[in-house]
Amino acid sequence: MRLILLGAPGAGKGTVAKQLTAIDGSVQISTGDILRAAVKGGTELGKQAKAYIDKGDLVPDDITIPMILDRLKEDDCKSGWLLDGFPRNKNQAVKLHEALKKENMKLDIVIEMELDRQIAKNRIMGRRLCVNDNNHPNNVYIDAIKPDGDKCRVCGGELSKRDDDQDEAAIDKRHNIYYDDKEGTLAAAYYFRDIADQEGIRYITLDGKAGVEEVADQLVKKLEA
Ligand code: ADP
Repeated sequence: MRLILLGAPGAGKGTVAKQLTAIDGSVQISTGDILRAAVKGGTELGKQAKAYIDKGDLVPDDITIPMILDRLKEDDCKSGWLLDGFPRNKNQAVKLHEALKKENMKLDIVIEMELDRQIAKNRIMGRRLCVNDNNHPNNVYIDAIKPDGDKCRVCGGELSKRDDDQDEAAIDKRHNIYYDDKEGTLAAAYYFRDIADQEGIRYITLDGKAGVEEVADQLVKKLEA
């Protein structure tokens, strides 16, 4: 399956991504994870990206678009992929669509996780990252996925916070970008929603307010429908 997963920072994309890749074995490509790994590794890309990420700004399209289009050409993407964190604006959506057409690759599904902005903000401030797997769900404000003391609820690993998750100004900027339906991420979502029928793409919405288990149920039902 080739799939795009869209949702505001805090909507629970990582958790849903994990469920989806477990279902069909497609590889998860998270722009944020790629960029953070580059920052950690001190690569040229990382040096360029760091200042943008810390402020909650988008890393410029001329860096992220080729980065993702190249990643999709790698061998592990042949049996399917799930894009998490891309596209994040309308321009990235248009460029991705063009590139897929050129390669004769059909996009199967676009999932939009709907969530109220204030709830998303609270969730972001509560989330914790497991050193062993970023997708292990841990959030101090969500009962269903509360960490086990100060350790990961899934594997007991050490937990940390992302700097950009504790900075309210950075969170607000990330949400301004997400909820912008003219040029931002919602505009990217609606770009695909509007061409979905004509291109044979399934456009699925999920209620991100629901708990982890309920979202998983919704997802399975909608995929089977
Ligand atoms: P979140 O969804 O919580 O904002 P991500 O891990 O997806 O977290 O992204 C973290 C940061 O990485 C973003 O704030 C942005 O600076 C950068 N980033 C991620 N994806 C993109 C993208 N598609 N285009 C530009 N910048 C991106």
